[in-house]
Amino acid sequence: MLFDISGAAVEKLDDELFNRQEVQVFVLRLDAIHPVISGNKLFKLHYFLEEALQSDHKTITTFGGAYSNHLAATAHACKLLQLKSRGIIRGEAPSILSHTLQQCLQDGMQLQFISREQYARKTAVTFGLAGANDAADSILIPEGGYHPLGARGSALIMQLFEPGDYTHICTASGTLTTAAGLLLAAPATQKIVSFPVLKGMTDYNHRIATLTGNSQPFDNLLICDGYHFGGYAKKDSRLIDFMNACWLTHGLALDFVYTAKMFYGVTESIRNGSFEKGSKILCIHSGGLQGNKSLPLNTLLF
Ligand SMILES: *Cc1c(COP(=O)(O)O)cnc(C)c1O
Repeated sequence: MLFDISGAAVEKLDDELFNRQEVQVFVLRLDAIHPVISGNKLFKLHYFLEEALQSDHKTITTFGGAYSNHLAATAHACKLLQLKSRGIIRGEAPSILSHTLQQCLQDGMQLQFISREQYARKTAVTFGLAGANDAADSILIPEGGYHPLGARGSALIMQLFEPGDYTHICTASGTLTTAAGLLLAAPATQKIVSFPVLKGMTDYNHRIATLTGNSQPFDNLLICDGYHFGGYAKKDSRLIDFMNACWLTHGLALDFVYTAKMFYGVTESIRNGSFEKGSKILCIHSGGLQGNKSLPLNTLLF
């Protein structure tokens, strides 16, 4: 790896509910790797960064919205590796930049705002942007790292633990790139459980096939899609209360966009008996804590 990932330890969570349902729950602390380049993003970026370092293309261009963990991680990783970074941002430039984008600027990312319509046509547009002839000298990373290389990088997460020790690996999903990577490296007997945070996502099989290059559906992929709380970055008081309870009980800080929804879904699934007795469940804490800075002050206890 390009960065020190020794902070990513597995911890066991103790809870009366888990004992009663006779399951064991563990968490892989990818959030502990680095405060900004945290979690799954580092892995998704891995092969793109390596390519940039090895080639003459010393600029990385990527895409995202104003609160994107992916943009924040890319900007910071590029800064540490002395690569240039450029972010194409969805929507007109606001008068006050989000915390995420301010962090990106501080990390030297060049920001370019484009209209939502243009953004939708972004791949075609990228190469035609004024002053962006250097796009040809750039390594392009799709939004959220949604690309087979991003999945290959995510597969490296499976090297951080002994896969045979767990019956289920749970992860929050946006683009499904991380889940695809886990599938690439998991034994066929191990369940990969994905909790989508977007509402109404239906093209799972297409996404997984694109990302893994394997057109046969994976029998060991479970999609648990009842826990998006109304859609991307949507939340309610149940979710916020759950996050505060996790902090008080386990000392575990979660982010409201991804990991809180996954942990909530895992906990409910344990409560309703969806995990059979004897299950050993590893939850991936995929980071993203910088996103909580968009919440009103004092929403969270941490
Ligand atoms: C981006 C992100 C995800 C989603 O990963 P995908 O590979 O897009 O499915 C999950 N958790 C966190 C914290 C993220 O920032």
